[in-house]
Amino acid sequence: SAPSVLTNMNGHFASMGKNGTEDNYEHGIQLIDEDKNYNDNLPVYLQLESIIRAGFNYHLISVFGSQSTGKSTLLNHLFGTEFGVMSEQERRQTTKGIWMSKNKKEHADGGGKGMAENILVMDVEGTDGRERGEDQDFERKSALFALATSEVLIVNIWEHQVGLYQGANMGLLKTVFEVNLQLFLKDSKTAMRSLLFFVIRDHLGTTPLSNLRQTLLQDLSRIWTSLSKPPGLEKSKIEDYFDFAFVALPHKILQPERFVSEVEKLGTRFREGFKDPKRSGLVLDEESQPILLPEYHRRIPADGFSMYASGVWDQIVSNKDLDLPTQQELLAQFRCDEISREVLVAFDEAIVPLEEKQADAIRSGKPSVIPKLGKMMNTARVEVLKNFETEASRYHKGVYKRKMAELETKVDGRLKALFQGQLSAAHKSGVHAFSEAVSAAVKSGQKKGASYDFQQIVQSEKQKALHNFEQEAQSTLIKGTSWSNYEQELSSYQKDLDEVSARLRKDEMRRLATRIERWVRSRISDSIGLEFNKLGSGRGGSGAPETGEKLPSEKDLWDRIWSLFTDTVQLAESRFTERARSFDASPEEVDIGLWRLRRKSWGVLRAKIDEEVMEGNILLKLRENFEDKFRYDDEGVPRIWRPTDDIEGMYTRARESTLELIPLLSRFKLQNTNAPPPLESWIGTPPAAVSAADEEDLAPIGGVDEDEGKSLEEEMTILSDGKRADLTTRFKKMADGVYVEAKRSAIGGITQ
Ligand code: GDP
Ligand code: MG
Repeated sequence: SAPSVLTNMNGHFASMGKNGTEDNYEHGIQLIDEDKNYNDNLPVYLQLESIIRAGFNYHLISVFGSQSTGKSTLLNHLFGTEFGVMSEQERRQTTKGIWMSKNKKEHADGGGKGMAENILVMDVEGTDGRERGEDQDFERKSALFALATSEVLIVNIWEHQVGLYQGANMGLLKTVFEVNLQLFLKDSKTAMRSLLFFVIRDHLGTTPLSNLRQTLLQDLSRIWTSLSKPPGLEKSKIEDYFDFAFVALPHKILQPERFVSEVEKLGTRFREGFKDPKRSGLVLDEESQPILLPEYHRRIPADGFSMYASGVWDQIVSNKDLDLPTQQELLAQFRCDEISREVLVAFDEAIVPLEEKQADAIRSGKPSVIPKLGKMMNTARVEVLKNFETEASRYHKGVYKRKMAELETKVDGRLKALFQGQLSAAHKSGVHAFSEAVSAAVKSGQKKGASYDFQQIVQSEKQKALHNFEQEAQSTLIKGTSWSNYEQELSSYQKDLDEVSARLRKDEMRRLATRIERWVRSRISDSIGLEFNKLGSGRGGSGAPETGEKLPSEKDLWDRIWSLFTDTVQLAESRFTERARSFDASPEEVDIGLWRLRRKSWGVLRAKIDEEVMEGNILLKLRENFEDKFRYDDEGVPRIWRPTDDIEGMYTRARESTLELIPLLSRFKLQNTNAPPPLESWIGTPPAAVSAADEEDLAPIGGVDEDEGKSLEEEMTILSDGKRADLTTRFKKMADGVYVEAKRSAIGGITQ
């Protein structure tokens, strides 16, 4: 769990060095010295006395009275303190400034009548001290300080001083009252009550306590009436600010045992209690009544007391208006800031590693989702706010709330950044995973050979990706914060998935196009090969009798090739369209795909034709064509040459007939138009949406891509003039050979 605020404070105090040793504080701590300096080691003392962590569970009591009236002696008996007392011999002032000590008496002695825990006692330098002479200034200042801090003011007074209205102690009370009015001048509503506890010393017993009390109360109201009250407080009454209690103690020297037992009894009244509503609010007069009432408590948390007291003293010393609410707010601000820093240490311990992890991942370009991030963030947040509340909520409510809000803003800012980093990682890895998953599913679909449903793969992977993202976002959310939604992130994620889907669909389109092209290639290879093979038969496909004219099968070669080609491509186009539609390709995408298909198919056809008219291939075809015409009769029966046969005439006819094929083959030309096929219009104009990437792998086509500098005429030229001449020569040579052979065989037939 988080290191407590106070662990940190311990560290702080430990570093304060030798002042922090207990020996230095055996008489308590001199909080304010005779030169009015405030002792900043108070926290060390409170730490040593284990009060610093007590929160509101402590009490502050001050004693007032003339010099050498046995105040310190009383406190030492009452609280087991060791305040310096005047020795009988020297008779000079011992207590200087203001001392503080913790009650050393056992606080619990059964029966609920023990003393309260953590009572702090302030022994204030006596007034009208001989050595200080007329130093009314210190009297005023210490009274103000005691009033601002103490719940109970013990007024120590000799019995014989009671009723001496002009006496020094009455002067002191006048000061206390004046100072009190000054203190609550600003805001009488925040006025705190205090208890003035009169301890009457050396009570002889002849005058009952009740009479003494009566006399004192009369004197007090006379003093109050005589005070010139500041505007607004003219009508205020003494009981608006003070409760009173009275006790009488026997003579310490003359009745030492009774003194001790009475003091012990008095001690039991220093316990917590509540005012009995049925009794008068003014006087706590029952002997056993507890005097530490909640309404007297100044509500300064123990860990802030030193700072508060020092601030108050500063104001007093510099004669500034002491405005307690302001002091409390200042204290609250300071302490809340301190506590905030302290609780953030544990928060940082939990959160900084996560922040670093995220930053590293981003820097390395491999953003990854941090597992259980939401849980860790929630825990850290709850902890830090809870720790802050525990320590800081004791301070001024308004300030506490403001500082709590500040802390929340600070913490939530950091957590929000983590949350967004997490979402961005989930986004990036999600998009990646989605793309991988679709590709893998497509691959496995291809492997199985079955036709897979691309669109369905995309849809189901997208569902998964969105689900994962939402789950991650949900688990990283911090409920109750102002940023507990992720709609924007989700929609941006969705957008990216859609973009990736579009890209994957394009890939799928390419794959489809490749498959279709392969199919086109094999179809064309077969059917066009067949058409060229037909050339090898001199009688043509129709089997028409030889008329000396070119056979229809030769004359309409290109028409048949063109229509075979366009039929094939048309079939391919409809297959392509059907498949592409099945995975939601847009009409534009389909158009581009078809356009590409047509262009590529033309390339396939053109390559196939080139292959067929390669020198060796076409020469063979021509030879077959020629031989068919020359060596076979019309019934397809091989001729046996006889010397009487018109070998030369048949040779010439057959040769001329075959030679006519060469110009026919040289140009791709349709019969009825005597022109190249309408390639440009057949391919069509490029779709508007076509992109550079779509055109990248396309070979230029003459007559279609005009700026390529190649005309349709050139595109349709199958055999160049040079090749044509060359082919003619070679063919003739070959035919001559066949003729010579035939001649020989005719003669040979005779000689045999
Ligand atoms: P402080 O100046 O008010 O703190 O007085 P001290 O406690 O130093 O005591 C002053 C003197 O009064 C010492 O010599 C004490 O012995 C003496 N003294 C203390 N308590 C009593 C008491 O109850 N009655 C009388 N008569 N003298 C006391
Ligand atoms: Mg003293």
